[in-house]
Amino acid sequence: MEKTLFPGYTIGPDAYDDIAAVCPAFGKKAAVIGGRHALAAAGDAIVKAARDAGIEVIGPLWYGGEASRENMDMLRPQVEEADMLFAVGGGKAIDTCKVLAHETHRPFFTFPTIASTCASCTSLGIVYNPDGSLREYSFSKIPPNHVFINTQVIADAPDIYLWAGMGDTMAKYYECTISSRNDTPAHSDAMGIALSSMCAEPIMRWGRKALDDCRAHTVTHELTEVILGIIISTGLVSNFVQVDYTTGLAHAVYNGFTVLPSTEANHHLHGEVVSYGILVMLTIDKQYAERDKLYAFSRSIGLPTCLADVHAKPEDLAAVTAKALAGIDVRIYPYPVTEQMIVDGIMEMEEYDRAHR
Ligand SMILES: [Zn+2]
Repeated sequence: MEKTLFPGYTIGPDAYDDIAAVCPAFGKKAAVIGGRHALAAAGDAIVKAARDAGIEVIGPLWYGGEASRENMDMLRPQVEEADMLFAVGGGKAIDTCKVLAHETHRPFFTFPTIASTCASCTSLGIVYNPDGSLREYSFSKIPPNHVFINTQVIADAPDIYLWAGMGDTMAKYYECTISSRNDTPAHSDAMGIALSSMCAEPIMRWGRKALDDCRAHTVTHELTEVILGIIISTGLVSNFVQVDYTTGLAHAVYNGFTVLPSTEANHHLHGEVVSYGILVMLTIDKQYAERDKLYAFSRSIGLPTCLADVHAKPEDLAAVTAKALAGIDVRIYPYPVTEQMIVDGIMEMEEYDRAHR
């Protein structure tokens, strides 16, 4: 069976006004669940908009700080009292509600308060252990019923989320197109791959200005476009394509760097390291024109372009490349990827970076 569903969305500083148009058809009671910062930033506005729409609110409830089974069990009684769920936050709070909605067969609506991942648009839920390690993927075919994107809330959030989110978003295009290169994709995959072109070029066109606007807490056309790229374009691609096409060598490289204590100690974000992975991936794939374009963009906004930028050294590479190939990321790829190939790609990137810095 194919996965082909996609959510509608409302975007703008007054996006929550649309709750009245969308949600009452799904019931009378909504449980509002979110992250602490997310609820502080948007909780009151969401509750007010829900009440104005004649919807009774349970909460707002803090999701517990981790997308864990334990927190889901804690929230289940309130969820079962509600007709629908309002998920407020970035990634983990949204995933907590998503899995609860799927398991209790309730409609759910998402309210992203940062633009960092596509979690608020996708059907896939990720469940973690209380210590933060990955527990399981919760696969479902049901994405949110609607995504309410308040651009002012996102413009007021710390800009590093948008910054790193751009890196992860651009990976979607390059990984999708490379991973599927030797296949003849079926309709749903082909739709997603076609949509993935919306994940790179618009980010490079508007990203610099969008980041400046986010720093100034000002909603502009450019910032709106980048938010849509990170949340909606990327989310739709994830909902359409099979898992082997949504990942690739950039994420393999990211996974590789997670073994280094220095990556964690220096708080490098997922999308930040992934964006470096794209440069390595394009170098290995000999897409030099595209690599150079991305390099210039990454330099312009301060995304990493060399090992030192991610606090790594050439002597770390044996451990990095072994871990990079331990996952499923390049299981479907147009050619076999070896550890030596990744080392060579990284060292070639080092040369290029030295010559262009
Ligand atoms: Zn990612």
